[in-house]
Amino acid sequence: MSSYWAEFAWLPDGLAERVTIDVTGSSIRSVVAGTEPSGKVLRGLTVPGFANAHSHAFHRALRGRTHHGRGSFWTWRERMYAIADRLDPDSYYRLARGVYAEMVLAGYTSVGEFHYLHHAPGGVSYRDPNAMSTALAAAAADAGIRLTLLDTCYLTGGFDRMPDEHQRRFSDGDAMAWAERAAAFKPESELVRTGVAAHSVRAVPPRALAVVAEQADGRPVHVHLSEQPAENSDCLAAHGRTPTALLAEAGLLGPDAVAVHATHVSTADIGLLAEARARACFCPTTERDLGDGIGPARELLDAGVRLCLGSDSHAVVDGFEEWRALELNERLAARARGRFDMTQLFTAATDHASIGWPEVGRIEAGAAADLVTVELDSIRTAGAEPAAALFAATASDIREVLVAGREVVSDGRHLLMAHPEITLRDEIRALYAP
Ligand SMILES: [Zn+2]
Repeated sequence: MSSYWAEFAWLPDGLAERVTIDVTGSSIRSVVAGTEPSGKVLRGLTVPGFANAHSHAFHRALRGRTHHGRGSFWTWRERMYAIADRLDPDSYYRLARGVYAEMVLAGYTSVGEFHYLHHAPGGVSYRDPNAMSTALAAAAADAGIRLTLLDTCYLTGGFDRMPDEHQRRFSDGDAMAWAERAAAFKPESELVRTGVAAHSVRAVPPRALAVVAEQADGRPVHVHLSEQPAENSDCLAAHGRTPTALLAEAGLLGPDAVAVHATHVSTADIGLLAEARARACFCPTTERDLGDGIGPARELLDAGVRLCLGSDSHAVVDGFEEWRALELNERLAARARGRFDMTQLFTAATDHASIGWPEVGRIEAGAAADLVTVELDSIRTAGAEPAAALFAATASDIREVLVAGREVVSDGRHLLMAHPEITLRDEIRALYAP
């Protein structure tokens, strides 16, 4: 058993002081507030780990490299395809390990990897058809983060369009072949789980959406939804209904479903998502990077759609920034402050159940021992009220991270990788080398 003493801790009923947290194995055994220091002292505010519900690890290679001139989501996508073309299982392992290490350093203790880079260039299967999935699972294990591999079905290059030369790597040819390959991936680590995803209504025809829904079988099922107005208009032209209505008809919407982005959804769409008890995953730092627009987060939550958060393209990897943006974008749109309360924001930031880890995300007896300690004396957080320091902190203020009872970050340093920033630099440079 390990014992931790937190100066302040965010418990299910709010902020508590002087909290002893006993951990046995990967779980919290007991939590008692108002105690004297014992065991490892955690100075600052200790919170449950953040959940990163939406990631494409390789997009990290685009950070700081796509800001020349104008462009759009669609021109950014061309750059993203060029990077995807250069990755193989070995280089993807090395890159993803650095990306996941950055996430743990930022306080994320789980990540939902929306994984569609399945095959070798041209769409040829690797000798192990799940070599890329295996590489991602190994990268997560070596970076010390929980992984949910959301094996993503990606079949078409648009409504009634074959995949182009880049997209062929993403496609298994048909839905049954996708299902067979995805089902063959059996992770060996306790910190890896699986779910499924349909890339989008652009990339998965209605009959195949139904196959994805069936394969979920109680696991999370994710889908990109209405990130761009063009998806809505193309879907209306092709199918006479909105992307959300198409997903509902295919049986893909339910309590395990997560609609990623949901930026341009109608009131009727919101009703369908609520009726299905689905979630919406906002990725505010990516959505602003790509100029997607501001999704109706408050309206969705009011309708009963639970919110979760993801860093998606990793333009920014900072759990605080992501949830702050959820609130601050709403303020800009509504021209009013305090659109969400702390509990609502915190629930979204720690919604590990959205990627199949319902036992993670609370500091209480029986929950998983995923703890993150935020410094309260940094130049950014100094002087803030302890609970409100979460509105002042950045990823740089995270000192300690415990994932499933294991210390992965201590004193702001990653304990399993000496220099993750050097790994990232070298791997990304190699991808851009002539
Ligand atoms: Zn995405």
